[in-house]
Amino acid sequence: MKLATKSNLTMRKYAFYFILLFILIFPFQPARAQDGTTGPVYIVQSGDSLYSIALRFGITLDQLLTANNSVDPNNLQVGQQLTIPGLDGVTGILNTKFINFGDSYRSLMRQTQVPDALFRRLNHVVSPSEFYVGVNMIVPLQDQPQYAKRISPAAGESLLEMAVKNNTDVWSLVSINQIKGSWASLPNDTMYAPGESSGTNVSGLPSAFISAEIRDLPIKQGGTGVITVVAQPGVKLGGILVDHSLNFFPSENGVQIALQGVHALLEPGVYPLRLDATLPDGTTQSYEQLILIVSGNYPEDPLLYVDPATIDPASTEPESQQLISITTPASPVKFWVGDFISPAIAYAESTYFTSRYGSRRTYIGQGTNLTINGFHTGLDFGGGDGLPITAPASGVVVFTGPWTVRGNATVIDHGWGVYSGFWHQSATQVQVGQTVKIGDVIGLVGGTGRVTGAHLHWELWVNGVQVDPLDWLNQTYP
Ligand SMILES: [Zn+2]
Repeated sequence: MKLATKSNLTMRKYAFYFILLFILIFPFQPARAQDGTTGPVYIVQSGDSLYSIALRFGITLDQLLTANNSVDPNNLQVGQQLTIPGLDGVTGILNTKFINFGDSYRSLMRQTQVPDALFRRLNHVVSPSEFYVGVNMIVPLQDQPQYAKRISPAAGESLLEMAVKNNTDVWSLVSINQIKGSWASLPNDTMYAPGESSGTNVSGLPSAFISAEIRDLPIKQGGTGVITVVAQPGVKLGGILVDHSLNFFPSENGVQIALQGVHALLEPGVYPLRLDATLPDGTTQSYEQLILIVSGNYPEDPLLYVDPATIDPASTEPESQQLISITTPASPVKFWVGDFISPAIAYAESTYFTSRYGSRRTYIGQGTNLTINGFHTGLDFGGGDGLPITAPASGVVVFTGPWTVRGNATVIDHGWGVYSGFWHQSATQVQVGQTVKIGDVIGLVGGTGRVTGAHLHWELWVNGVQVDPLDWLNQTYP
């Protein structure tokens, strides 16, 4: 009896240790779909569809659905986990990362420590020569430590000097950065060292730049690009995004910022982004990389039949040219602070939009065959004649007056190349030169100009381009 009990206890003890050992050896199960297929997990991002995910991984929609048979294709949620079949030998989480200015194929390999062959397999759509700013890459989460500290060799600096400066050794740098030997470091090449990101985003940029970053990637048609640069003291910055010259303005802590709108009708694709630095001694340094501009997925509006006079180029062109010349100068003073607010905040229609920015529009002159193709350049608010319009942000009034297309119009300069336009008013209540504060009443809603009914049209210009004003209501710029 005693023996039996002892044997029983011993068996329980062994069973306990066996289970403990099992837990220790297999602490996490790989993601497993209901049909038993295993594979790495992809986390659904905003804008994804099952079709786009299948396309991205080079599999069919059927294969993706079979591996994820509990997923409702009509109700895909951001953050949902999908098993990706057909990637033998790959496990864990597949992260995504947007390529930023100054990143290169080599620098991403170094930062993430993902082997070249695996990276190519996961991102087969994009070759190293197509390493555009704003492209979203698949980067598997690695077991190895992430080397977040970006370093860049100065001209003539040896690996030993870099190693000493970064509290590491030459052979760690050679291994982390996958370079052939201790002689193989290149000036202006982005490398990584053990340790935390220092916050200064030193990259493969020329020496005049300490860091450069583009926010909210990828930029969409009608979007606002925010380019943030820290340069060496006394450096004057310039550059180009698509075909617009950038205007940089000093912000806090030596940061310089340029805001640049991207045209709603710009064909999605890759475009140049160039930064120019002029040093105190007059010499210049430039860095250019292609940037991906994606579709804004704007819908097509029904045909609009309007008074022919309002779409006759003879009357619309001078007015458009006048508006362009008003909104071209970039004032060095930034009049706005923090968020923009709805210009319809004073009445109950502040978030009731009757027409959004970007929708494709075809105007037809009633009784003629005059046709104009364009897009909706602003945001329309519901609400009728006589309701108060308020300044969405502080600024200086630079135009008020009657226009053929835009009716009674007001333009406010918010500084840094950002302007608001308010069209179709029944009355304007401010004068040119007047300073307005956020929330001040500037005029009344009306139905003047090219309209089918009384409403407020608010549009926002950023460095010479009309952008989606809703972006500016939803987030803070810069
Ligand atoms: Zn409108």
